[in-house]
Amino acid sequence: MNTLRITPLERWIKDRIGLEPQSAFTRDHVRRFQLEKIRQTLTYASQRSPFYRRQLSGCAPADLLNFEDFAEYPFTTAEDLVRDPLEFLCVSQSDVARVVTLRSSGSTGHSKRVFFDPEDLDRTVDFFQQGMSSLVCPGDRVLILLPGGLPGSVGELLVEGLARNHVEGIVHGPVQDPAQTIDEILARRAQCLVGIPVQVLSLVRHPQSRRIPQGFIRSVLLSTDYVPAAIVADIQRSWGSSVYQHYGMTEMGYGGGVECDAHDGYHLREADLFVEIVDPATGRSLPDGVSGEVVVTALTRCAMPLIRYRTGDQARFLPDYCPCGSMLRRLGKVQGRLMNGAALGPLAWLKMAALDEALFAIPSVLNFQAELVPANGCSRLRITLHCDPCGLDDTVAQIQAALARLPAVHEAVSRGRLAIDPIRLTPETWFTSGAAKRTLIDRRQERSIP
Ligand SMILES: [Zn+2]
Repeated sequence: MNTLRITPLERWIKDRIGLEPQSAFTRDHVRRFQLEKIRQTLTYASQRSPFYRRQLSGCAPADLLNFEDFAEYPFTTAEDLVRDPLEFLCVSQSDVARVVTLRSSGSTGHSKRVFFDPEDLDRTVDFFQQGMSSLVCPGDRVLILLPGGLPGSVGELLVEGLARNHVEGIVHGPVQDPAQTIDEILARRAQCLVGIPVQVLSLVRHPQSRRIPQGFIRSVLLSTDYVPAAIVADIQRSWGSSVYQHYGMTEMGYGGGVECDAHDGYHLREADLFVEIVDPATGRSLPDGVSGEVVVTALTRCAMPLIRYRTGDQARFLPDYCPCGSMLRRLGKVQGRLMNGAALGPLAWLKMAALDEALFAIPSVLNFQAELVPANGCSRLRITLHCDPCGLDDTVAQIQAALARLPAVHEAVSRGRLAIDPIRLTPETWFTSGAAKRTLIDRRQERSIP
């Protein structure tokens, strides 16, 4: 007998599509709804946004018959957003309720800006309400270890979504001092945490973590960055919590998809987003089961609809139905950012996600920074480590062994293209501030290396 609860997103999306609760609900309903919303979005954006007026000139949205036709439409890229975010705006600036400025990963130093109007923010609140209902019950308290404070910030939207389920959300902000955050969890009697993987790990692996009884924190939602398996396993083992993963980015309206009780892939907010997987090199659509770049089209955004936006994230659609019994699609776990890595030769690509999996599996590792620096025609991998000081020698030896087992590192070292620097230690807990993603820093083209 199936004891898993079906994802709450299924009933919500059925309602958003306008179907009666008793009526049948199939993939065809979702697909027809999405295709109609795509047509509407194409028309809306080409009438109101200067960027899409140019980009979509010559296209006839009313003639769009199927998703294969839509796959021929041009992509929107992060560079387009950096160039002139105001060209995407479809409402007057006085109607904008929230502007988020995102640091660009490019070399120009310019930033992306993403605009939301009150309706856009309300739909995100709606998603947070539904998605969080797998994790919490009315009367619970959730400690939110994400940025908040400002109206329209992710923390505040989450508080609003939780309040609709009669759950109290408390914005704590990113962890600065793990011991203080553990005090806060206990004092507030928080049954649920929402946080960034490496930040929650700093709590789980802290000596004060023992003060948190098993089962005290019933559920944890990990968001914002790549989620290494070792972090999930540690939270489950140490606290007895059920760990859910969320996938989203600001360009999606913060929220994109969330795991159900099956913990095997994210169900997506399919009434608001149309997601495709494409070959990052050719841009061609890929079939379910094949990994590629996540491309997203916003179906209901007023201020700034994005059409076929290349996220830079790597994932695949899972081909089978979810064990929870839903017919909603599942995006498999995001495998990190495509460009969050570095070439160590023609056949060796070292991903930050691979480093995360290898090093966080070592119990005393709390955080680390990875850099590639040039040295006499080859590269050197430099790891700066923040760890539990007990058993330090053992930790360093384990890191060296774990690095050597990574295929990209093994290949590059054996061909003389890579050397590994002695592990550096630091008392600093954090290498990035706030909710910034952790990245493999490639300094091989820099003139002066710190
Ligand atoms: Zn499910």
